[in-house]
Parts: sequence; C-alpha cells; structure tokens
Amino acid sequence: MSEAVYPLLGVSRHRMGIDGEGVTTLIAGAGCTLKCAYCINKRLLAEKKPKPVTARELFDLVKVDDLYFRATNGGVTFGGGESLLHAGFISEFRALCTWTINVETSLNVPAEKVSLSAGCVDRFIVDCKSLDPAVYFRYTGGEEAVFEDNLRLLIALVGSERIIVRVPVIPDHADAESQRKSAEKLREMGVTHLDLFNYVIK
Ligand code: SF4
Repeated sequence: MSEAVYPLLGVSRHRMGIDGEGVTTLIAGAGCTLKCAYCINKRLLAEKKPKPVTARELFDLVKVDDLYFRATNGGVTFGGGESLLHAGFISEFRALCTWTINVETSLNVPAEKVSLSAGCVDRFIVDCKSLDPAVYFRYTGGEEAVFEDNLRLLIALVGSERIIVRVPVIPDHADAESQRKSAEKLREMGVTHLDLFNYVIK
C-alpha cells in the first residue's frame, strides 16, 4: 500500500478550549470541494505553498506537545481546507498515536471518506453553512444534499455525541431566521450538539 501524504499549510500549537477538551494543535491543509465566498483558506493558499508530509513526518513535527496532549486529553485537529479529503492519511496518522483526533469538515466529500473517517476520528466539528439548498449553493457552489446525506451517514456510524455542528449567520447570505431554520432541521436529523455563531468578515 502506498503511503498517503498530507498537503500541509501550517500548524498552530497550544490552542485551548477551541476544539473541545484539552490542548490541541491545529494542522491546516490544502484542498477543498467547495468555493465559499468568505473562505480564509483561499487567502492562505495564495500566500504560501503546501508542503507534502507523510504521517510519520507530521507525527514527528507535532509530538513536541505530547505531554500537554496526554495531560489534558487533547490532541490534534485537522482543519481546512477539507480535512476529510485526507481520510486515508488521517487513518495512517491514527495508527501512530493515542491522542484525541478532531477534524473540522464541511462533510461535502465522497461518502467513502466519511465512512473511513468514522474509524479513526474522535470528534467531528462540522461547518454546515446552511441547510437551505439555494443559500448553500449560492454561498459554496456545492450541493447541500451531499452534506445532508453525509451527516445522516456519520450520525449512523458514530452517533451524535462525537459530532458538533456549527451553524453560522453569514452576512449577505444567511440571516438569523435562516440560521434558526437550519438548526431546527439539524435537531430533527438527530444532532444534539449545535454551535450557533456569526461569521465575522474581516
Ligand atoms: S469549506 Fe472551508 S476550506 Fe472549503 S471553501 Fe469553504 S471555507 Fe474554504
């Protein structure tokens, strides 16, 4: 089997209380299926090139915080771009450590990536954008139905406890009423952990 590589854009250490329990290191990667109007990652990509790393190379890079991770039940968070495009890589990384592994994901990926990630990710931080298909398409250029199908699949595979869904108010795209409707639909789908927030555009 060939070794997977991850398109590393950068790491951010010593984050507290952002990805759930403990101290975490954010691992930012390149690549996404969506084209969100206010994407920060697009700007990052314009500034720097990704560095391809193997799971062992990434492990060696972040293990400096092993003590913090173990003492606080923390670990690493694979962030965007779209982390689940690299589910095979995350699975290889999982085999190297016992730290908590979080992912930030839009869930707009092929269903097999979701299935693979269910076996190697501890916590899913899902950025839903909107559950209104028209709003979703206008803001991301993608299909909302893919998100919904994958969220149902993920809930069936790992249960709702390991999933937090973030529901934004998006300036010029989704107002507070649109956010409320999305949250209502998510609860009906079985989501129990919701984070309602406002996008701040800088
Ligand atoms: S899902 Fe995230 S990384 Fe992808 S385009 Fe949207 S904001 Fe950017």
